[in-house]
Amino acid sequence: MNIHEYQARDLFSRYGLPLLPSKIATTPTEARKIAQELGSTAVVKAQVLVGGRGKAGGIKLAPSPDEAEAAAAKILGMEIKGEKVRRVLVATAADIASELYLGAVVDRNRKKVVMMASSEGGIDIEELAQSRPEKIIKVEIHPFLGLQDHQARWLGFAIGLDGELCREFTKIAQGLYRALVDWDASLAEINPLAITRDRKLVVVDAKIVLDDNAAFRHPEYESLRDLEAENPYEREARLASLNFVKLEGTVGCVVNGAGLAMASMDLVKDSGGAPANFLDMGGGARSDQVAAALRIIISDPSVKAVMFNIFGGITRCDEVARGIVEAMKTLPREVPLVVRLVGTNEEIAREILAKAKMMAANSMKEAAELAVKAS
Ligand code: GDP
Ligand code: MN
Repeated sequence: MNIHEYQARDLFSRYGLPLLPSKIATTPTEARKIAQELGSTAVVKAQVLVGGRGKAGGIKLAPSPDEAEAAAAKILGMEIKGEKVRRVLVATAADIASELYLGAVVDRNRKKVVMMASSEGGIDIEELAQSRPEKIIKVEIHPFLGLQDHQARWLGFAIGLDGELCREFTKIAQGLYRALVDWDASLAEINPLAITRDRKLVVVDAKIVLDDNAAFRHPEYESLRDLEAENPYEREARLASLNFVKLEGTVGCVVNGAGLAMASMDLVKDSGGAPANFLDMGGGARSDQVAAALRIIISDPSVKAVMFNIFGGITRCDEVARGIVEAMKTLPREVPLVVRLVGTNEEIAREILAKAKMMAANSMKEAAELAVKAS
């Protein structure tokens, strides 16, 4: 789950990270008031969940309250990568001499948290990783020992900081690491971490990605979730307890079980097609979940066929078949459906599907081939 910069700043400030004062505004008048209170050059920043706000014109320096009001008027209501700006952050502007990068990320391959730093901050880190990977310095963090001071110092020196700045940097790296661990984040990032003209380090941008799998032990997650900015289909999937990931292909996949879903996607590929999504309904899929899954998948106009691959263990095949037939009645458009159901109550399921004149497949492979052909 992505949260807004102003929320990430709030979390970071609890770990002693150096942030300049800021407040949220929803109108230009409010932005002017905040700039007046701050009493120095302000920066007005669009609060959206997507990155690259600077390039999109969503960040403006405002030397006076008048200019803060004008900047807010421009930015509020703007669309950045399809997301409407409903709030701006008005912060004391940092007097930036140069920009660094500092981030901590859960690295699945190394099975550890990795801390990364670069002297080339402010730019897209993925881009930098492509063009000049040697500019990103990394340390692996031992899960029991945590980030060691000597590791943080080493990082600081490696990106060219002098002794004094490196001391500050070490504290910031420690705070960022603790924030990541305490909040079960998959990423905690400061880009840029600025060196100001009076030689101090200041957090200029704050980003934290929370791991939804940890929501059960963080009641605060729910209050951080921005329901209005969430993709409507991902929200529907979340509310129906479906594990859904949108992909680029044309064959929708409705499957119970993550392993079976992966295998189904592979078979679609092997048959010459491309899956439009990953979707795991979990065990015991109910008919309302099946209907939600179909609605979500078909809402994407590039989907030309849908393949159901259901293994009835806990899940009852007749329940799924009823769900499919129910959902068909409410769908906004028709698409060919190929269904493969095996397991508990599969005979009853087959009868239900035959009555509804749906394509039934006898094997996974056949289902994938039929679906690809139909698409
Ligand atoms: P992003 O584009 O969404 O990553 O937004 P950032 O908050 O990282 O801002 C993008 C760029 O705007 C930064 O790299 C800075 O160059 C500039 N910027 C943002 N805040 C300030 C500020 O307080 N002072 C100055 N001088 N520049 C800023
Ligand atoms: Mn940034």
